[in-house]
Amino acid sequence: MYYLGNPSPMDYSELACAYESIGSTAKRLEMAALLEALFRKATPDEARMITYLTQGSVAPDFKGLEFGVAEKMALRAIGEATRLPEDGLLEDYKRNGDLGVVASEAMSRKRQTSLYATPLTLARVFESLQRLASAGGGGSQDLRTKLIAELLHDSSPVEAKYIVRTLVGKLRLGVAAMSIIDALAQAYVTKEQRDEVEAAYNVCSDLGLVAFTLAKDGISGLASIRVSPGTPIRVMLCERLPGIPDILKKLGKCALEYKYDGLRIQAHSSGGKLALYTRQMEEVSAQFPDVVGSLSIALKGHDAIVEGECVPVDQDTGDLLPFQTVSHRRGRKYGLDAAVKDFPVHVFLFDCLYLDGKDFTSVPFPERRKALMSTVRGGDGVAFAQSIVTDDEAEAERFFDQSISSGGEGIVAKSIAPESVYRAGARGWLWIKYKRDYRSEMIDTVDLVVVGAFAGRGRRAGSYGALLMAVRNPSTGRYETVTKLGSGFDDANLAELPKLLDGHKLKSRDKSVDSQMKADAWFEPAVVMEVVGAELTLSPVHTCARDRLRKGSGLAVRFPRFAGNVRSDKKAEDATTTDEMVEMYRAQLKKIE
Ligand code: ATP
Repeated sequence: MYYLGNPSPMDYSELACAYESIGSTAKRLEMAALLEALFRKATPDEARMITYLTQGSVAPDFKGLEFGVAEKMALRAIGEATRLPEDGLLEDYKRNGDLGVVASEAMSRKRQTSLYATPLTLARVFESLQRLASAGGGGSQDLRTKLIAELLHDSSPVEAKYIVRTLVGKLRLGVAAMSIIDALAQAYVTKEQRDEVEAAYNVCSDLGLVAFTLAKDGISGLASIRVSPGTPIRVMLCERLPGIPDILKKLGKCALEYKYDGLRIQAHSSGGKLALYTRQMEEVSAQFPDVVGSLSIALKGHDAIVEGECVPVDQDTGDLLPFQTVSHRRGRKYGLDAAVKDFPVHVFLFDCLYLDGKDFTSVPFPERRKALMSTVRGGDGVAFAQSIVTDDEAEAERFFDQSISSGGEGIVAKSIAPESVYRAGARGWLWIKYKRDYRSEMIDTVDLVVVGAFAGRGRRAGSYGALLMAVRNPSTGRYETVTKLGSGFDDANLAELPKLLDGHKLKSRDKSVDSQMKADAWFEPAVVMEVVGAELTLSPVHTCARDRLRKGSGLAVRFPRFAGNVRSDKKAEDATTTDEMVEMYRAQLKKIE
């Protein structure tokens, strides 16, 4: 039964006592029962507050609110509230490592000497914490300390313990969102309706809103919680299978997409504004101004929610780079301009969850993809995830190899059946990922021969952007391509390249070079460079050891970098050989989950 009208306001002590009991059990059922008892007594507003506070916050995660209370400030506030010396409190903290316990012990000591304070209501604690949070850690330190001290002054020891733990971000009750959902379901709906509660949470990512709605209007109220731009949807996740035959057996004819190795983002465009959220509902628009800019253009005029993977791209060669190249951008405020310029990020879109007033989450995947392709204007920095629809094993294997050699980490197979809806918040069999053990870590450098070059873009316009590199196969006397090398050159190296290579320039491909790639310039095999790579992978593009490890595939060096040395002491014949590459690949083959 949901809320029918109410009694006196709930005291914060009820919540603090429930937290004490929750802290002494590891059982999910018991935790849910303790919360359920609170919800049964709560007004809709109180149900909302209980929910956020139990999640250690005063708002849903995607609002990005933080209390910003450092240990030092908490100690000062405890000192002010109890009139105990801060040095002693600091000693206590060093001893037990828990500021909540320091606060609670200090309050017990203070109790013996001070007069009884006014009891704290849940609403008062919540509102004070909200004030601290919306100040975003800014505002006058003295005022913030005073606000905390006032709360603590009126707290009992157990209340002080949980207020302080919440403020310093160490509530750590171990209550997962699913346990709160259990408790809400037990308090307000029937057992059979629990999944509807979870579904509402999955589309709005806001458990406080779900709690408020249930307490106010019961299950029928959940209909008002809808997909809407600006409110992140909990993402759909993949199951995994060990091979393409298993995937085709499971899904039949399905869509296969490159599995890009980057950061998943959910982009919300509404009223001309664009926001980016991660899988964890963290807003990262500020860290990716380039993606915000390119997506704003791509989605212009539409209210939409689309998903994709952000991947850094080498601006000189257009190659995908490992995500670590830009991972430092997250949470970073300074030097962002330089980072954006040096490592631009592209987004590869793969889903559309909302478009101009229509919720697409319950629409089958092929229609979502169609909506995506017909709405988004691909262009600078925005592309669609590479995709094919097939039930042919050989075609699927080739697509997998293409993904790996283009910088992907495998494929994601997606059901195209009528039931292939977007299952928010769920890891299920409608999407299956496949990352195979066809990658082998490189621990040594290799010496490769320059056989071709590609025209540069961006800063390298008018010069060479990347070099086509080969190994030598002594049994045939031929040079077999193994990678496109564009990274690791400093300005001095770049300036040297024409001098080094132009003397070996040819009008067309040297007869001894086996290449499926069409380079913009060709060289006689002469210049040897030391190259370091992240991994060796099978590749449908390169000719090194073609057909030896798998029919139709060669070997490639993934994420290659010039190691700094032109091996002028080596001739092309002395370069790393095909056999050495095969051996390295086999010896270092690693199992990828
Ligand atoms: P992993 O570490 O393998 O990426 P995960 O637990 O982060 O796993 P999963 O659901 O298992 O996530 O794998 C899907 C992830 O792959 C997505 O969260 C997304 O970041 C990424 N991805 C890359 N390309 C695609 C694509 N075309 N479709 C869906 N997800 C993709």
